[in-house]
Amino acid sequence: MKFLVGTSEQSIYPIVAVRDGIVFPSTENVLLFGRQKSVIAINESLKREKKIVILMQRNAVLNDPKKDDLFQIGVLAKIEKVLPGNRGEISVLVKGERRVKIIEFLKETSYFEGKVEFLNEIVAEDEQVKALVRHITSELKKAVNLGKGIDFIFLMNIMSGVSARDFSDHVAMILDIKTHERQSLLEELNLLQRLKKETEFIGNEVKILEIERNISVKTQQKFEKGMKDAVLREKLKTIEQELGDQPKEDKETRELREKIKKANMPKEAEEKAIKELKRLSQMSQFNPESSYIRTYLDWLVELPWFVESPNDVNIKKAESILNEDHFGLKKVKERILEYLAVMKLKKSKETKTQPEEKLNEKKGKNKQPTILCFVGPPGVGKTSLGRSIARALGRKFVKMSLGGIRDEAEIRGHRRTYVGALPGRMIQGIKQAGTRNPVFMLDEIDKIGRDYRGDPSSSLLEALDPEQNHSFSDHYLEVDFDLSNVMFITTANILDTIPDALLDRLEVIHFPGYTEDEKFNIGKNYLVKKQLEAHGLSDKEVNVIDDVLRLIIRRYTREAGVRELERQVAAIFRKIAREFVENGSGKKTVGVSDVRKYLGPFKYSSQMIEEKNTVGICTGLAWTQAGGDILFIEVAKMPGKGNLTLTGHLGEVMKESCQAALSYVRSRWKAFGLMTNFYNHLDLHVHVPEGAVPKDGPSAGIAIATAMVSSLTKTPVNKDVGMTGEITLRGRVLEIGGIKEKVIAAHRAGIKKVILPKDNKKDLEDIPKYVLKDLKFIYVEHMDQVFKEALVFHNNKSQFITLEKKVNKKSNKEKK
Ligand code: ADP
Repeated sequence: MKFLVGTSEQSIYPIVAVRDGIVFPSTENVLLFGRQKSVIAINESLKREKKIVILMQRNAVLNDPKKDDLFQIGVLAKIEKVLPGNRGEISVLVKGERRVKIIEFLKETSYFEGKVEFLNEIVAEDEQVKALVRHITSELKKAVNLGKGIDFIFLMNIMSGVSARDFSDHVAMILDIKTHERQSLLEELNLLQRLKKETEFIGNEVKILEIERNISVKTQQKFEKGMKDAVLREKLKTIEQELGDQPKEDKETRELREKIKKANMPKEAEEKAIKELKRLSQMSQFNPESSYIRTYLDWLVELPWFVESPNDVNIKKAESILNEDHFGLKKVKERILEYLAVMKLKKSKETKTQPEEKLNEKKGKNKQPTILCFVGPPGVGKTSLGRSIARALGRKFVKMSLGGIRDEAEIRGHRRTYVGALPGRMIQGIKQAGTRNPVFMLDEIDKIGRDYRGDPSSSLLEALDPEQNHSFSDHYLEVDFDLSNVMFITTANILDTIPDALLDRLEVIHFPGYTEDEKFNIGKNYLVKKQLEAHGLSDKEVNVIDDVLRLIIRRYTREAGVRELERQVAAIFRKIAREFVENGSGKKTVGVSDVRKYLGPFKYSSQMIEEKNTVGICTGLAWTQAGGDILFIEVAKMPGKGNLTLTGHLGEVMKESCQAALSYVRSRWKAFGLMTNFYNHLDLHVHVPEGAVPKDGPSAGIAIATAMVSSLTKTPVNKDVGMTGEITLRGRVLEIGGIKEKVIAAHRAGIKKVILPKDNKKDLEDIPKYVLKDLKFIYVEHMDQVFKEALVFHNNKSQFITLEKKVNKKSNKEKK
């Protein structure tokens, strides 16, 4: 049986907009109105029959909603009571009467007023409705038990057996739902449907309340259990103390004690560990210090106090491993093998020595006094050779970078009083290695800084010094650790910045950088294989033509080592691997024409010699971090007042070289056929192209002087000649460094004649024969020899005769 409740009629009422609070038919609610429009509407309604229509805003945020911002369906309510507030707002007790729909707004500026239609509800009090009412009632009870806050009056009304229609409206008032959900209940005219919706809402609410309850119960339980445990533990301790018993150890302490026993520490360390353990066990679990002690004990327990890799040096085996891993580096390998041999000899003697002597040795006497230091540009194999040494000796390998550290604590650790303190890098490295005799590489020792936090190099010295490092003390550990079995290898790019005291202890081995041919061989025999493997490819699938490697070396890299070469090879293989995956599988021969496709356009232009003999340009040989190179020194003269301009990013030393070269040229004016005061009437500009690349050092001295003389005397310089050497004011040529790299660069650039200081003759030893064969070397002691070899004299007599005569004539004229 269904009833239509209410009749369909129309009437005109003032309207108020509410943000979210609403009143449903047959329920009461207190609404607070503050907005001007609302207050006017209420007053209007009070003047008439105290009836007002309440509409909800579609968007609660709007302060001054227009008619379109309001829902169309609302409630006609009776104003029961009005209570004005202090600031113009009014609290109004309203009682909902009927659902209404706005047909037309008649006023909307000062307040809303409109024509409304009364809506008819479909109400059927059948079994289904009754069942739903019962279900919602029981869910509501559940919700209240779970902590849902409900106005007591509402609850009483609901429970007191009102009609199903009123019941649904009461429930709609107390549900914890969103505005649009509440509006949907208002708009639902079918009671059965409305109850169904409410069942769903209350069901969700109960679920959420249950979850919340669960969480809070669990948290509470956990907290209570933690408290209970702690209190019981404390009580137990007190009881045991009272009874005079030794307190029983808890599980953690017992486990730690066992670990300490197993760790096989030296006596001093073990005593310290036990002491700390005792402190820990007496400490409340909630004491923050307990976690610090635990970390400390973990460190003590995990350090390899006596764990060693077997230390049997087999020189033959070591040699074959070094050769297997690295191409060339003959001198370096030899030096390393010698070092290992000495180590072996010392060790065999050590085992034969008498106990007292052994004791002396333990204290650091007779230990191998030197530490290897690999010096050279990046990518020349310093690190990988270190790794090879470890492999050859069957020891672990660890590497720690010291670049940029300024704080002594980085080496020696922070004291435990610091929050977050840890041991220094030495001890960290040892832990990482897991043995006390690893090969320990300390990278970039030329980049250690120092500041107010102490000097890291002095603690480093202590760690490296065999006289002291058998009892290296780390601030964090507080007990000594024996580092004397560690094989330290340090690396650096340059020697200049290593503190003298440290350098004194180091046995420096230079890695000179590779020639193009060496790079090619390393690429072909090592890097290609290594990278194939790293990319899941095999040499059966990918074949790299020799010329490809040469092209990469020349046009895609400029370096002393092979790191960039390796990177470029890897880039090619990465792309091939992708092609293979995309095509299923494949085979590929990488030819010269593929290189551009894989690596893009050339990165470097090739540095080749000038095309013809030119006045004022001389080819110098330079040494840079990236290996050898040739550089052109240009000198231009112009009318002026005796100024010297230097450009091309020249360093201080190189600038001084220019000054010295000029002074030499000026002092020898007569020999060059120049006028006495030639310098007063002209300016000289010395420029070294590739201005962005910094250049420094004295070794361009003779090249600068040659370019100056060439420019001043208009004598061209032979394009096939390259030179290097420092110049003195008297024109003597002094020895310089980096000969190998420079000569190789000269060869690469196509130079035929190389002028070197006489004292550098000895340095040609380790230059490959095929390079030496193509070059003619001239060893000089004085600039006169340089001019003879480098300048192309007009009269073939190697003298500045023509000019001198010309000048002489001129000066004679001047005299007259
Ligand atoms: P560094 O430590 O001097 O900066 P790396 O040891 O990292 O250089 O060397 C860079 C890469 O070049 C490594 O993959 C290394 O194996 C390889 N490499 C360098 N020199 C050689 C060589 N002579 N033979 C084989 N591979 C080499």
